[in-house]
Amino acid sequence: MLTNDVLDQWDRESFFHPSTHLAQFARGEMPSRIVTGGKGVHIEDRDGNRLLDAFAGLYCVNVGYGRPEIAEAIAAQAKELAYYHAYVGHGTEASITLARMVLERAPKGMSKVYFGLGGSDANETNVKLVWYYNNILGRPAKKKIISRWRGYHGSGLVTGSLTGLKLFHDKFDLPLDRMLHTEAPYFYRRPDLAMDEAGFVAYCADRLEALIAREGADTIAAFIGEPMLGTGGIVPPPAGYWQAIQAVLRKHDILLIADEVVTGFGRLGSMFGSHHYGIEPDIITIAKGLTSAYAPLSGSIVGDRVWKVLEQGTDENGPIGHGWTYSAHPIGAAAGVANLKLVDSLGLVKNAAETGAYLNAAMRQVLGTHPHVGDVRGEGLLCAVEFVEDRAKRTFFDPARKVGPAVAAALLKRGVIARAMPQGDILGFAPPLCLTRAEADEVVGKTTEAVSDVLG
Ligand SMILES: *Cc1c(COP(=O)(O)O)cnc(C)c1O
Repeated sequence: MLTNDVLDQWDRESFFHPSTHLAQFARGEMPSRIVTGGKGVHIEDRDGNRLLDAFAGLYCVNVGYGRPEIAEAIAAQAKELAYYHAYVGHGTEASITLARMVLERAPKGMSKVYFGLGGSDANETNVKLVWYYNNILGRPAKKKIISRWRGYHGSGLVTGSLTGLKLFHDKFDLPLDRMLHTEAPYFYRRPDLAMDEAGFVAYCADRLEALIAREGADTIAAFIGEPMLGTGGIVPPPAGYWQAIQAVLRKHDILLIADEVVTGFGRLGSMFGSHHYGIEPDIITIAKGLTSAYAPLSGSIVGDRVWKVLEQGTDENGPIGHGWTYSAHPIGAAAGVANLKLVDSLGLVKNAAETGAYLNAAMRQVLGTHPHVGDVRGEGLLCAVEFVEDRAKRTFFDPARKVGPAVAAALLKRGVIARAMPQGDILGFAPPLCLTRAEADEVVGKTTEAVSDVLG
């Protein structure tokens, strides 16, 4: 085994880390962590630390670490058949079974599942399907996609364009054209509007109407949104938001893509966020919780309305010109089947609802009145604590002070991983769905201590 010194040197010389300050890392100005193991909600590193991972990796290890059931399913599939492609009608028992299991759990009106590798490529697929759909329907101008500022839909060219975060656009020449953004449903951040929450919902719908009017409804193909904003700040939508938005979309014949990469398979305490908020999507994006990240796999769940047109398209034009070498990879599919069985047998959707309500209530109770905590919010096993300079005036810290990252670092020192969300001083929690109440108490207790370490 390599010594830690050698690994650290090779790491800094050779390995390109995503979402990392590359120069600081190469110069050795920021720490690395070499992760060696995990069990339940904990991970272990090479330095012998055992950490409670209250972000489940990147909100993906929903069943928790170290589940032998999934490891064994992967090993069995690898021995039997590690790979065959899914083109021109090929498949495996695992990929067919998983498609069936996904549809059994999905909202009504869904027809087929296309499998990819990650959330970004699934949304890339979705945009292509929507363009194809409108071409087949003879509406070649209806191509623009609307997402929200602070939405997160991936970091590819099209999906990074849909993502509504500055860091993903600046210096990459994004967003590309055809990709538009509208108001984020983030009531807490708009005290300047001086409205109540119902007024703000109407305002969001009006902003969307105005954007559609400006661009022309005959140029807008689809709207994409996470049922609950994730990476943009972990923000539950205001009551009635999705009803108001869907009314606008229906009026203008605009498709709805629900990006359920985080919310799919239980995180909100419902199987899908669409169930949770009464959303009736045309396409649903799934990834993270589909395999709990035991293997890379994503999916596009295609609703009846789009599916019929795809069939018509191939009758008119021949086979659909879309596919990845690794679409429906058998190892990913086997992991997905074993994972969804575990979600059921462990009762994780129910636990996300119950332990999630407990975690959110406890966090609100201990931090809700802190002078530098403006908002404690969440749903199911998603929770966020937002820091403010002045609670009464609702003014925010200068981002250069990096208050959010400082609290996350203090919490890490105390043995708990949470995530400093990328835009705003927001500490995010998205633990594995198997979190117990005792573990929730530990997360809340240590968070309170970390907040006092940094903010008094
Ligand atoms: C993580 C995420 C994606 C992108 O998934 P990758 O697997 O990182 O490509 C897309 N949408 C949402 C809502 C996500 O959270």
